[in-house]
Amino acid sequence: MENLGQKLTSPTVEQTHTVAVIGAGWAGCAAAVALAKNGHRVTLLEAARLPGGRARRVEQHDYKLDNGQHILLGAYRDSLQLIKTVGLKPSAMLRRYPLQMRYPPDCGGMDFIAPKLPAPLHLAWAMLRAKGLQTADKLALARFSSAARWMNWQLNNDCSVTQLLERFDQTERVIQLMWRPLCIAALNTPPERASAKVFLNVLRDSLGANRSASDMLLPLQDLSALFPEAAVRFIEKQHGKVEYGVRVREITRSGKRWLVTADQRTSEFDAVVLATPPWVTSDLMQTLDTSIASMRFDYEAITTCYLQYAPTVKLDRPFYALIDQPEHQQWGQFVFDRGQLHNDQAGLLAVVISASAEANEMGQENLCSKVSQQLANVLHRPELNTTLWHSVITEKRATFACTPDLKRPTNLTACENIVLAGDYTASDYPATIEGAVRSGLVAAKLLSQQK
Ligand SMILES: Cc1cc2nc3c(=O)[nH]c(=O)nc-3n(C[C@H](O)[C@H](O)[C@H](O)COP(=O)(O)OP(=O)(O)OC[C@H]3O[C@@H](n4cnc5c(N)ncnc54)[C@H](O)[C@@H]3O)c2cc1C
Repeated sequence: MENLGQKLTSPTVEQTHTVAVIGAGWAGCAAAVALAKNGHRVTLLEAARLPGGRARRVEQHDYKLDNGQHILLGAYRDSLQLIKTVGLKPSAMLRRYPLQMRYPPDCGGMDFIAPKLPAPLHLAWAMLRAKGLQTADKLALARFSSAARWMNWQLNNDCSVTQLLERFDQTERVIQLMWRPLCIAALNTPPERASAKVFLNVLRDSLGANRSASDMLLPLQDLSALFPEAAVRFIEKQHGKVEYGVRVREITRSGKRWLVTADQRTSEFDAVVLATPPWVTSDLMQTLDTSIASMRFDYEAITTCYLQYAPTVKLDRPFYALIDQPEHQQWGQFVFDRGQLHNDQAGLLAVVISASAEANEMGQENLCSKVSQQLANVLHRPELNTTLWHSVITEKRATFACTPDLKRPTNLTACENIVLAGDYTASDYPATIEGAVRSGLVAAKLLSQQK
């Protein structure tokens, strides 16, 4: 091979199967860990200065924040297993809460929390005891969950979540307080545009699952520390290599192997896992696979407003659901008390706005001021009107819009030994950490089979 510059890898053992994993998000890290564990010589190439991708640490005001507050579920089987594989203890990294949708008291919301009972009793009990719902709302919830169970959480023909809710005769209040916020939080797509099939998959693994699978897991560490950085240490221990600040520009064929070019440096590998976001993946596959090159998604934004108050400010619970009513300038959908999750972040609240395109039109200053007013009003705490500092992080392409009948590519490409990994590949799940991890594991398995 013509070496155009410094080599990215130098395989010393001829028989070693060398794999470039491009992108150190959760999908790339999962693939690289699985491959390294299987004896492949892995080189993980990441354009940014740290691993994690769309679930990563962001340092601001001397704090380790995240690019967006994330929630994991007890059903995230493969993510939890991988956290263990790389030597961390999930119970020390994540705090478990029972499935819940709890609004601040006296704000016109509801209080729904699953008790410690085996499934499906936990759900039945939660519906029966939910405060803030009328009998008609509870009957609607019961109707939905029994019908969904009867259908085994599956639909033959996809439709929008709104159409599904109409079919099951859901009340306006249940839609506003339960289904709409759940749909936006899980699929990052409003119910009128969201896929009912994928929504049912998420409900199957939360409302419909056993008690521990339905638990909500909140990170006690920043998102890069939660898995990606430990994954990097694991890969290096298995004699793999990890490079940051390396933006891959081109992949070309060299006989049966692949040349990976990044910033004037080219190196040769037996195989490639392309774990970049879909828009980068289609660019890199431009001349290699026309169907991947032409894939197009619409994207939805997620915005997190970090609001710092005096360290004595503490919410009564670690997180609350909020009623978002853009027509009344109420944008916040969930608020998290970071001080209850991270020892050094007392007084810091994170307010999440999913599918946030409209909120972002407000401008950051205006949005923060409206969000702090919303908190002050619904929590009846006037001191929340004024922050010490605030910061807004918007991920414009946070996730693909999870619409009905969306065609998502499989992990395979037209090229032997190039596979895809990422939250957008075909699966049951919307764009989530677990979707990304599972895709990474599938990619690694496919390469191990092709080896
Ligand atoms: C604000 C926000 C909130 C979210 N909330 C949740 C939640 O609560 N629960 C949940 O489960 N999921 C949530 N998600 C979704 C979840 O974060 C993503 O689905 C997941 O992180 C995607 O991982 P990935 O590895 O597929 O892609 P990415 O994380 O996008 O990884 C791709 C990597 O490739 C790198 N890269 C790009 N181009 C190149 C190149 N040319 N060369 C080398 N490297 C390159 C990128 O820097 C990146 O590190 C949220 C996402 C966001 C943005």
